[in-house]
Amino acid sequence: MRIPILTFMISAMALAQTPLPVADAGRLESMHGKTVMLFTPHPDDDTFCCAGTLYKLAQNGNRIHIVIYTNDDKGSYDPDMTSERLARIRMHEEEEACRVIGIAKDSILLLQYHDGMLEYANPRDLVEQVTGLIRKVRPDVVLSVDPGTDYVRWHKTDHRMAANNTMDAIRAAEWRLYFPNQGLHDGLEPWRVPEEYYYYAGKDANYFVNIDDVVEIKLKAASAHVSQFSPAIEKYRADWDPAALEKLKAELRQIGKRDGHYVEAFRRATGFNEE
Ligand SMILES: [Zn+2]
Repeated sequence: MRIPILTFMISAMALAQTPLPVADAGRLESMHGKTVMLFTPHPDDDTFCCAGTLYKLAQNGNRIHIVIYTNDDKGSYDPDMTSERLARIRMHEEEEACRVIGIAKDSILLLQYHDGMLEYANPRDLVEQVTGLIRKVRPDVVLSVDPGTDYVRWHKTDHRMAANNTMDAIRAAEWRLYFPNQGLHDGLEPWRVPEEYYYYAGKDANYFVNIDDVVEIKLKAASAHVSQFSPAIEKYRADWDPAALEKLKAELRQIGKRDGHYVEAFRRATGFNEE
């Protein structure tokens, strides 16, 4: 479930206090041929946080894996909607958003926990599951929801759980004595994630990707999440009311722009150490 306005605002607030970096080969958005893994609580946080950055990474020939913790099967006011139907709709909307930014649907992995219920999954099983995924994919970079910011602490439980669980799994993946069964049974070796970028970082953001040149692509991807906005969130329909779509895009453009630039903001970290 999204709160896109706030998400864009967080990026803009961070931008207002921090100068834009100069692009160079060592930058996230300039990487080529690497493996990137993004963990998202719901099938849309990846779009709202990072669609511009993901598009650039896809264009650069990086291998991108999107791991979605929950199926987002609760966020509708439509009295005729069912959880099963909403989960299918949300999956298709996510696939379309990913298609827009150049990520194939076979790069999306849905863990299929119910919306709002991630906190009630078995914590040991959850961290073991994600540790195994990290050891299998062996990413050069992980993007995940920031565990420490006000937005994440006060947003819904899935965000808190996804944030903490992903960090715990990154740590466990490095040490062979965590879940040794993964080596014995599945042949998985330990893996140390070299770089991490945490989104929804708010005032803790220390890394900014300029998306001026791709912001319209980001808005197109965002508009794939039809069911999360009026009028479809009240009474489901598969398409937009054109006026509502234009209003949303205008709102997002206005809020997302500060000092003449659009950015996506992250807290960059390596190992246990925040930079
Ligand atoms: Zn979410």
